[in-house]
Amino acid sequence: MSRLSSIFPAFSERLKGKDAASAAAPACGCGASKTPAELRAELGEERYRVLFEEATEYAHSSPLNAEKRDGTFICASCHQPLFDSSRKYNSGTGWPSFWEALPGAVGFKTDHKLIMPRTEYHCSRCGGHQGHVFDDGPQPTGQRFCNNGLALDFVPRDEQLPPLR
Ligand SMILES: [Zn+2]
Repeated sequence: MSRLSSIFPAFSERLKGKDAASAAAPACGCGASKTPAELRAELGEERYRVLFEEATEYAHSSPLNAEKRDGTFICASCHQPLFDSSRKYNSGTGWPSFWEALPGAVGFKTDHKLIMPRTEYHCSRCGGHQGHVFDDGPQPTGQRFCNNGLALDFVPRDEQLPPLR
């Protein structure tokens, strides 16, 4: 467990939580049941580092900043839908930004990496890190979900969502 914790802190926290809550096996074939090597192979190094080592991509680097079509933003790791395009807005930060996540799609934890604590959020299904949420967003929520584009994929409304993985 110590090796896993050092490589994969967010992940092992989640595993501990699961153990405490229930001994039942996860219902899906996602995140928790894959090794870091398997996830790396599936996602590629850049996406892996954002999703499972909480790296942050460079501002203005994601093509999803300019994505304005109707559709759904899904977790790049397990494909769970996270945001609807109707909740996307241009925050001017250089990262894809949303004022609301789909119900139950993300979980939260406090991140103390910087001097000011920030609220990290991640995919509720696989635990993959997505970004940080701030309280300077537009109404009606006043929230700003600042998301790494590498942690998302976009599916236009007229295309079928990929199966969860
Ligand atoms: Zn996921």
